[in-house]
Amino acid sequence: MTESSAGQGMRLFADAVARVERIGEQAGVDGEVVDQLRRPRATLTSSLEVRMDDGSTRYFTAHRCQYNSVLGPTKGGIRYHPEVSLGEVQALALWMTMKCAVVDLPFGGGKGGVELDPKSLSHLELERLSRAYVRANADFIGPDTDIPAPDVYTNARIMGWMADEYEAIKRVRAPGVITGKPLSMGGSEGREEATGRGAFIVINELANLRGMDPRQTTVAVQGFGNAGYHVALLLQGCGYRVVAVSDSKGGIFSGDGFDIESIYRHKLAEKKLEGVYCDGALCELIDFEQISNEELLELDVDILVPAALAGVIDTHNAAKVRAGIIAEVANGPISGEVDAELHERGVIVLPDVLTNAGGVTVSYFEWLQNRGGYPWSLEKVRARLRDKMIPAFRSVHELVENEGMTYRAAAYVKALRRISEGIAARGTRDYFSSTSE
Ligand code: NAD
Repeated sequence: MTESSAGQGMRLFADAVARVERIGEQAGVDGEVVDQLRRPRATLTSSLEVRMDDGSTRYFTAHRCQYNSVLGPTKGGIRYHPEVSLGEVQALALWMTMKCAVVDLPFGGGKGGVELDPKSLSHLELERLSRAYVRANADFIGPDTDIPAPDVYTNARIMGWMADEYEAIKRVRAPGVITGKPLSMGGSEGREEATGRGAFIVINELANLRGMDPRQTTVAVQGFGNAGYHVALLLQGCGYRVVAVSDSKGGIFSGDGFDIESIYRHKLAEKKLEGVYCDGALCELIDFEQISNEELLELDVDILVPAALAGVIDTHNAAKVRAGIIAEVANGPISGEVDAELHERGVIVLPDVLTNAGGVTVSYFEWLQNRGGYPWSLEKVRARLRDKMIPAFRSVHELVENEGMTYRAAAYVKALRRISEGIAARGTRDYFSSTSE
């Protein structure tokens, strides 16, 4: 981790807390609730000692944060990235707290991360590191306390190693300790597509309410990984015109829209979107131009979907964003400093804590299946996901309509009210001061 990523992480966390304070104050949320959300409940930082293939030993800094557990065990992914920092992990854990509350899951928020470049390790080194993470956190995590999952640069295989290590340490079968596992180790059908599917449901609900015709609606998606690919595929399947997509190497644009499946096949084969070609009949007719990620964010489209990194829309470029709707599929793609500016310009922002909540929702289903010992079909997972996402969107939309809030403020208010109920059930200052008189 560089000094600047540590600073950036602390800024991200300060920004996340400031947003809770601002929205909480505007909506008249009890100060006790906001105060509790200013700091994580517990954070464990450890140094992982890992034997490298050449016999040497390396040390990796790792974090696990349990932000708030008023509504249930903490839940949140583990990220492997060179820029991971304590501040970033805490910000992500705070967002998980809000997200679980918005979709009414019986979970609090958590997050984990290891500072490393996973691409620089061999498979065996990655396995040793993942097991070392669990050894360091074995008394911190657990099916009833804190349940990790995959995040950026971690996947089902890594979750499988982690669950296996946990069970070896505890000498029990405990598949519910981690979600996002391989199917054969208790993973859930539909987990991989869940974030994209949840985002698609939310975007489509909003578009329907606004009377938008999918065939006349253009979409640009930044980030063509798990979340970005699935949301683009589902939107296109429903008739939306996905006119731009990008990955870390750059983007492509075509006014007529793309065939997402063939772009994905090409990306898998070539590992980039440059020079992409399509082999379907429709696509052969389509010309496209190469664009930068910066240009993609500034395209004149109806819906912009940032699905890659945090902080891509801030004071430097917010004024240049021309989309009427921004659906935050990535965590934290819009800096809190520009919330008001976008709102004043009439841009509707579907916030991350609602839009990308499909992933944690299906993680919850996986946890339920593990505890019940009874796997669900893909159809059941998809139906239950709709049953969670649509009411969550509608309840947020109702607050927007009835209380004149932005979607972000409404999602936060919904979450804060739910967390307030959890705190109030245990007793607040008002309760104790009135009963002691
Ligand atoms: P991923 O690793 O599968 O994909 C990330 C994509 O972003 C890749 O296509 C990568 O090339 C691209 N990318 C990286 N740097 C970029 C850059 N500078 N500009 C444009 N694109 C860039 O990750 P993912 O699981 O799809 O996660 C993407 C975002 O969604 C993250 O912010 C993550 O926290 C969030 N998210 C994911 C899930 C999930 O279940 N996958 C759930 C909630 C939130």
